[in-house]
Amino acid sequence: MTVLKSIRTGVASVSLAMMALPAAADELKIVASFSILGDMVEQVAGSYADVTTIVGPDADAHVYTPSVADARAVAQADVIFVNGMGFETWSDTLIAESGTEGSVNIATAGITPVMVEGEVDPHAWNSLLNGVTYVQNIAAVLSDVAPAHADDFQANAEAYVAELMALDTQTREKLNALPADRRTVVTAHDAFGYLADAYGLTFLAPVGIDTEAEPSAQELAALIDALKEQGASALFVENITSPALVEQISEETGLKIGGRLFSDALSERGGPATSYLAMFQHNLGALVSALESAGQS
Ligand code: ZN
Repeated sequence: MTVLKSIRTGVASVSLAMMALPAAADELKIVASFSILGDMVEQVAGSYADVTTIVGPDADAHVYTPSVADARAVAQADVIFVNGMGFETWSDTLIAESGTEGSVNIATAGITPVMVEGEVDPHAWNSLLNGVTYVQNIAAVLSDVAPAHADDFQANAEAYVAELMALDTQTREKLNALPADRRTVVTAHDAFGYLADAYGLTFLAPVGIDTEAEPSAQELAALIDALKEQGASALFVENITSPALVEQISEETGLKIGGRLFSDALSERGGPATSYLAMFQHNLGALVSALESAGQS
């Protein structure tokens, strides 16, 4: 009995000590608006920050209603990162009403926006070279806020950028090898304009750059006609939107659904896209395999 009791006490004190560790005095409290950005921030901040993500995996950050817990996290944050470009329609109000004194930063600063029908396309992360700019912006902000760790932030960012650049090269090689008539992709909403521009694909979608609008019957019919004419296209559902429209397009064109793309959010733990790098790799693999077999039955 005595032995058992002392073991239990031993375990309790060990776990208490472990819980106390992350609360180091120099740890930054950071809030990121959505999961992809949250992962980038964690890669750069390493062990010097506690990162809270507002819109989590598989969730739609275009339309989101912040909770009381979100407002509390923003109020307590030293640093806040948002995508900007009109992506988070709810973030300005959340930040203003939280009364936070943390620094608010736009991760897309310096990126040339792609315009879609007169509106700024916010999905800049879907080009890896833009991803590099996000990472450099994050490293600059963190180095400014916590200069004692600037060397670590810069080293983390450099190693991460090297991985992003290597994947960018691999992406160009794989997509350049596709024939000219197999470069059209249909997704649920217009989230891949930057990928299209960077890597020479054409993306079509029944819904525009935000997920709120619904297509008219006429718009949908025009898209279906265009796809029937082209024949060799790949169709994808997304992790953050309903598959209904894409399924309807598949039925009416006879084109098969080539899989699922992660457009605006990472996957839940255990899924195929738990980091920005893994997400991009998954999307690249899905695109290449669907486009290679497009038009063959
Ligand atoms: Zn989107």
